[in-house]
Order: sequence, then C-alpha cells, then structure tokens
Amino acid sequence: MDLRGSNQPVCAFCDSKRLGLVMDFGEVGLAGAFLKPEQFATERTFPMRLHFCKDCYAVQVTDKVPADVMFETTSISPRRSALCATTLGNTPPR
Ligand SMILES: [Zn+2]
Repeated sequence: MDLRGSNQPVCAFCDSKRLGLVMDFGEVGLAGAFLKPEQFATERTFPMRLHFCKDCYAVQVTDKVPADVMFETTSISPRRSALCATTLGNTPPR
C-alpha cells in the first residue's frame, strides 16, 4: 500500500500545496505494537514524512495511516486507541 500518494502533499490546516520537506523518516512501524521477536519480520511499516507549510507555518506529518489499521486492537490496546482517537480528533472503528 503506497500511502505517500502520487500528488504533492497538502497542508492539513490551510490546504496549501506549498510544503517543504523537513525530514523523511522512511518506513516506520506503528507505536505501541509491542511485537514479539518472531513478529519482527512481518511488522507492517508506513512512510512518515515531516513537512513545513510555507503559508501557515504548521509542521505536520503528511503521510496518513488508515484508521482501521491505526486503531486495530492487535497492534494497540483499545484503551490507548481511544486516547489516540481523542488526541487526533478521530473516531476509532468499532
Ligand atoms: Zn498550511
């Protein structure tokens, strides 16, 4: 799954396309997975790039992990999932 998309990233705050890349972290695993050693080889990873908006000055991660993956109970606890959802302003899938 290519989450980088083929288009230029867009600012989540002002919809500007004038974003500058601050840092490309490459492919990273989701936080809170607490994998066992035998699961390391099959860990799902996702692109994570940090951008700076030249119009509203917001610094943001522009690559989005699908909510059903972000909040699945096998990779993150339901309690923590709800906390993340509240923090991010999203609703976890039920
Ligand atoms: Zn902006």
